[in-house]
Amino acid sequence: MAKYSESVYSRAGQELRRRKLEAEAETKRRKAELFAQDPEVAAISKQLEGTANEYLKIILNGGTELHDNIEKLRKKSTELSSKLGSKLQALTGDRDYFKTAYTCRVCEDSGYKDGLRCKCFEALLKQYAAEEMAENCGIKLNDFADFKLDYYSDAADENVSPRARMKKTYDYCRKYSEGFSQNSPSLLFIGKTGLGKTFLSSCIAKEVTEKGMSVAIGQLATFLRKVEDEHFGRAAGNTLDTLIGCDLLILDDLGSEFQSQFTESALYEIINARLNAQRPTIISTNQSISELNMNYNERLVSRITGSYLPFIFIGKDIRPMIRKF
Ligand SMILES: [Zn+2]
Repeated sequence: MAKYSESVYSRAGQELRRRKLEAEAETKRRKAELFAQDPEVAAISKQLEGTANEYLKIILNGGTELHDNIEKLRKKSTELSSKLGSKLQALTGDRDYFKTAYTCRVCEDSGYKDGLRCKCFEALLKQYAAEEMAENCGIKLNDFADFKLDYYSDAADENVSPRARMKKTYDYCRKYSEGFSQNSPSLLFIGKTGLGKTFLSSCIAKEVTEKGMSVAIGQLATFLRKVEDEHFGRAAGNTLDTLIGCDLLILDDLGSEFQSQFTESALYEIINARLNAQRPTIISTNQSISELNMNYNERLVSRITGSYLPFIFIGKDIRPMIRKF
C-alpha cells in the first residue's frame, strides 16, 4: 500500500469531513424546512427516531416477551417509515428526501469500510499526492487551446511538413485526453528540444487531472533524484509509489538525468510496474531510438519501444518564434 506525506493525508481527511458535514447539513436543513411546513411530518419523524430508544429498552429489559416486543416494534417502525415515505413523496416527490446524500454511499464519507480505507479515500490520496508532486516539479500546465500550429513550418522538408505532422499529433493528444482511461496506450514523444513535447504533455496532464484522475508530471531527472534521496534516507516521502500508482505518469526529458545503476533500475521498475498494472505513461525524450539504445540497457529500451506508441516531433525549434509573439 502506498505511503503518502502528512499533508496529503490531512488534505484527504479534510475533504472527507467537508463532504460528510455538507451532506448532513443538507439533510438537517431539509428536515427543519419540512417540519415547519408540516407538523405531521415532524411528529412521524420524531416517533421514528424514538424507536431506536425503545429498542434499547426492550433489549435491556429482556424477559420472556423479548421476541414478541421486538417484532411489535419492528412492525411499528416499518409502518412509520412507510407513512413518512408517503408523506415525503406527496410533499417533495421523493420518498427518500430525508436520506443523507453522501458523496460516497459505500462508506458514507467516513473514508473507511469494514476497517479498510474506502476507494473514495484512496482516490483522494492518489489525487492529492499527484497534485503535490506536480506543484513541486515546476512544470506549468497548459490548455490545448493555447497550442499554436502556426509556429510550425508548413514547408515539407521531408515527405510531410512539420505543421501537418504536428496537427496529427495534436489531434491525437486531444482525443487521447478526452477519452483517457486505464486502457489508453503509453506514448513516447521523440524529437529535438523546443518542438512542443513538454507543452503537449502538460495539456494532456491538465485535461486528465480535470477529469478527476491522478496525474504525476515532471522532469524525469527531478523525480529520480527524489526517489534516490528517499531511498537513501536523505528525504521523507514515497515518490516511487506515487510514480507507480498514479493514473497517468508523464516523464519529461528522458536522457537528461544523471545516470547511475540506481537511477536506471528505478526507472526500469517504474516503467515495468506500470506496464504490468496497465497504467499509461508518457515519456518524452530528445534522444533517437538508436541513442537510447546506446545509453540505456537493452531491457529498458525494449520495454519502452515494445509497448509505447511513438510520436516523432519534427521541424525547427519554435521557442525563438514564441518569444517574438
Ligand atoms: Zn467511500
